[in-house]
Amino acid sequence: MHLIFRNKKHRLNLLKLCTLVVLSFQCPVTSAQDKSNINNRDLSYLTSGGKLLPLQAIMDIRHYTIELEVNIQQQSISGSVEVSVNLLKKTDTLLLNLVHLYTVTKISVNNKRVSFNQHDDKIFITAAAGFEIGNQKVNIEYNGIPPVAIKPPWDGGFTWTKDSNGNDWVSINIQGEGGEMYFPCKDHPSDEPNEGAELKITVPSNLVVAGPGLLMSVTTKKNKSTYYWKTNYTISNYCILFNIGKYKVAKDVYTTIEGKKVPIEYYVLEVDTAHAKKVIETKIRDSKILEKYFGEYPWVKEKIGIAEVPNSGMEHQTMITFDNKFRYRQVGGHEYSDNLFHEYAHEWWANKVTNKDWAHMWIQEGIATYAEALAMLELGGEVAYNEMIDGHRRGVKNKKAMVLGDEVTEEEVYSGGDIYGKGSFFMHGLRYVIGDDIFFPTLKKLATDPGYTYDNFVTTDDVEKLFSSASGKDLKPFFDFYLRTTNVIDMNVKEIGFQKYQIKINNFFMPLPFDITANDQTSRLIIPLEGITVNSVLPPQVDAKGFYLKKVTIQ
Ligand SMILES: [Zn+2]
Repeated sequence: MHLIFRNKKHRLNLLKLCTLVVLSFQCPVTSAQDKSNINNRDLSYLTSGGKLLPLQAIMDIRHYTIELEVNIQQQSISGSVEVSVNLLKKTDTLLLNLVHLYTVTKISVNNKRVSFNQHDDKIFITAAAGFEIGNQKVNIEYNGIPPVAIKPPWDGGFTWTKDSNGNDWVSINIQGEGGEMYFPCKDHPSDEPNEGAELKITVPSNLVVAGPGLLMSVTTKKNKSTYYWKTNYTISNYCILFNIGKYKVAKDVYTTIEGKKVPIEYYVLEVDTAHAKKVIETKIRDSKILEKYFGEYPWVKEKIGIAEVPNSGMEHQTMITFDNKFRYRQVGGHEYSDNLFHEYAHEWWANKVTNKDWAHMWIQEGIATYAEALAMLELGGEVAYNEMIDGHRRGVKNKKAMVLGDEVTEEEVYSGGDIYGKGSFFMHGLRYVIGDDIFFPTLKKLATDPGYTYDNFVTTDDVEKLFSSASGKDLKPFFDFYLRTTNVIDMNVKEIGFQKYQIKINNFFMPLPFDITANDQTSRLIIPLEGITVNSVLPPQVDAKGFYLKKVTIQ
């Protein structure tokens, strides 16, 4: 998702209301964290990820089929989800996540009715004989009123609104809280349905459903239409969703860098069709930039999809959402939309290259943000690139390290605010340390090598090892310093004789190259543990272009 510093916990409005009511009546909401009371609609405690539960560690999710009818008047959903799961160990309990706002009415496993109970935003499914190793098909029937998003896409849920012509317009955002916001699933970033997902969504037939993958069919019965979307690719839970609107589909075809033809489908509100041509042209131009650095568009067997939604964009695989109000800014004489580009970069950095846990989210957000700087380089040259990188450097907060462990919640990671700008600035520094000839091909390898993409996940260590081996340098200290601490390089420039200066790093962690400017000449010098001595009339300037986060003291 796009950078805006989020202040979560927006869903307290209901509680505040209750505080007033409690003066005269007993408030029905007993606890902000009452995870079983269907009347408690405050989900502000909810965040995706964290420690993987043992009951879920034995489940390998293969596929989801979501069949739902959306009742727009009642703002409710009802239907079923089939979870195809490969059990790695025999167990007496299957555990799925679903927020407590829904009522589960029936569950069967391999077509046999089973017992279940719902509490703490979980469904515990049991059978007397237990569940055997191997493939299990779990079918859950349920209904309920989904959480309403207070500040989408940063705080998730459903958004029920109308377009400017008064037509219903519904969007879903669930990155922060997870798929459990509207469908039963194993809600952990370390497990995606490797065989994809299907969505069969029924809506009033005057409306259209935009979804992931391929539109297999649309069937209409009694003023209701069912849109059947199917993706065969592995996909993150938070990308398995749909948007509803009075859409038209603007189409084109994109020829990839490898010469393959991919349909472009833009689900644009009927009222906004005049803007469609420009959005598609921008998308084609952006595709070429992204493919140049990161290889072919990842989902060539399906589509390049875009859906207009009533909130800032999200990286929903093969159906990126966006809302730039059709405003663009000028970069080097080209029209550019940050939101449109950033979300699109996530098709490579999030959807194709996916971090194993929220802990390593800087890979997705930091590199997608760095991709924006590369777009600047392509459209506006070095000046535009440096301007954006300077902004990323100035924006570094350093309140919290970017990598805080191995199993961390989404909330903990995003609340630091540095995974975007500092993540991007880290890539810029890495580029300087190892040089363009190694940096760019290695970055492309990370985005294209089967070991890092699609069904595989990546961690910070994977990225470090790849760049270390490509450069022939042990870059672990550099990665650790930037990603696992909030330190900046602390340097001294000290006059030690006549026109002679020593440059030393006080918190040295590895020899690093620096641009040293002395007597109007700039040279790239490696500073070792013992520091270096430079002859200069005036104190030499260190790293004038700002490739590093540093503090320099002149003595
Ligand atoms: Zn993002």
